Amino acid sequence: MEILYRSTRGTGTAVKASQAILKGLSDDGGLFVPEQIPPLDKSLKELAEMDYRQIAYEVMKLYFTDFTEDELRSCIEKAYDSKFDTEAIAPLAEAGGAYYLELFHGATIAFKDMALSILPHLMITSAHKNNVKNEIVVLTATSGDTGKAALAGFAGVEGTRIIVFYPKDGVSPIQEKQMVTQKGANTLVAGIHGNFDDAQTGVKKLFSDRALAEEMNGKGIQFSSANSINIGRLVPQICYYVHAYATLLREGKIAEGERMNVVVPTGNFGNILAAFYAKNMGLPIGRLICASNDNKVLYDFFRTGIYDRNREFVLTSSPSMDILISSNLERLIYHIAGNDARKNTELMEALKGEGRYGITEEMKDNLEDFYGNYAAEAETADEIKRLYQMCGYVIDTHTAVASAVYQKYLKETGDGTKAVIVSTASPFKFTRSVMNAIDGKYDAWEDFALVDELSDLAKVEVPGAIEEIRNAPVIHKKQCDVDQMKDVVKEFLCG
Ligand SMILES: *Cc1c(COP(=O)(O)O)cnc(C)c1O
Repeated sequence: MEILYRSTRGTGTAVKASQAILKGLSDDGGLFVPEQIPPLDKSLKELAEMDYRQIAYEVMKLYFTDFTEDELRSCIEKAYDSKFDTEAIAPLAEAGGAYYLELFHGATIAFKDMALSILPHLMITSAHKNNVKNEIVVLTATSGDTGKAALAGFAGVEGTRIIVFYPKDGVSPIQEKQMVTQKGANTLVAGIHGNFDDAQTGVKKLFSDRALAEEMNGKGIQFSSANSINIGRLVPQICYYVHAYATLLREGKIAEGERMNVVVPTGNFGNILAAFYAKNMGLPIGRLICASNDNKVLYDFFRTGIYDRNREFVLTSSPSMDILISSNLERLIYHIAGNDARKNTELMEALKGEGRYGITEEMKDNLEDFYGNYAAEAETADEIKRLYQMCGYVIDTHTAVASAVYQKYLKETGDGTKAVIVSTASPFKFTRSVMNAIDGKYDAWEDFALVDELSDLAKVEVPGAIEEIRNAPVIHKKQCDVDQMKDVVKEFLCG
């Protein structure tokens, strides 16, 4: 079955997967969605016998239907290799009565690696398939983790350049160090004076700037997006949910067909949307538990049916979730409206104009599978300490938001369904916040002393990604205001 992709705002014609991957965002500002969600065509038992790469192929072949088997397998082989520090690629750790799906074993120790290690290969393959001769320039706004994962993915990839904008004062010290030490002549990193939403809005503006696109085309350059709105990121994220279920089944931890709940620390809504797709492909998922930090727009949305970004932006210890406009939610809105582009467009216009919209009762009924809650800063810190003291397992701040929300969910519902808590970052990426949660005495310690102490406490080796930046020189020193982003891009590309 060939799958084509349409914009959630519905004006253009349907495009092939490779075209959707190349464009990132549709010309009308909408996001590409598959015309149908394809069902899994292997049984759960068969999947339980497969390794990560095989499962990735079984999932992606259903979506990227204009890729040949060789093309897709080659992309998968290049992505999920020894860059990951474990054969399992995405292992499950049992702790405190739940399963933690560790998605941080890739090059930059956060879950963005799961998709961004394959996206460059999908993009280059897509360019070849469509006879694109232009150089592909990836423009990215990051709340901290996407930036480094995209840099690591695209650095040195021939035919591409990558530009990353991050909020200068809105990422962790380790996140910033990881980005500004990035090597590779095809990379540029700039800190902007503003928050993540400002960076994201600025990048979206560059994408919709027709005059700029034409000027660049004249120089043999075209823009693409590595942000989580790209279908080439969404689909690879479905794979680890299928892999998690297959692992539980293989290890006898779940019966065939028995449901699992998933708990996802959410920002831009990409990760949990992938779980929604997995469920709609037939994977036995029960509730989709959406966890927010103090920026709890999504919690309010699931409770009231009203999405309202008019509120204070809070800087938290889980910066990758400090987001008030969850871009990928647009895909869910489109689906719960019955794949109605007109309705979706109306709501997105309201979001742009008034900063808020409300969904209909009928749409709200379609959200039954979701449960939303949030964890405040103190609750997040308490959860890190609780889990560590109970079983010695140390989680990062984002995972702790999910873990704390799962505890609230249990208390509220008593639902004994097995739970997979998505662990989106290594605790080593947020060492200071993690160590402060465990003991206030660490506040005065220096960053890398904390890293070594964490390694002792958790009995986990310091990841290579951290060792690398210990003494690495800062390469990228650029800073700019939001309205200078276009100049920064032009200067880098045209000299
Ligand atoms: C990006 C990120 C998230 C949020 O994921 P979304 O797909 O944007 O919802 C959560 N935790 C970490 C560590 C991240 O890097």
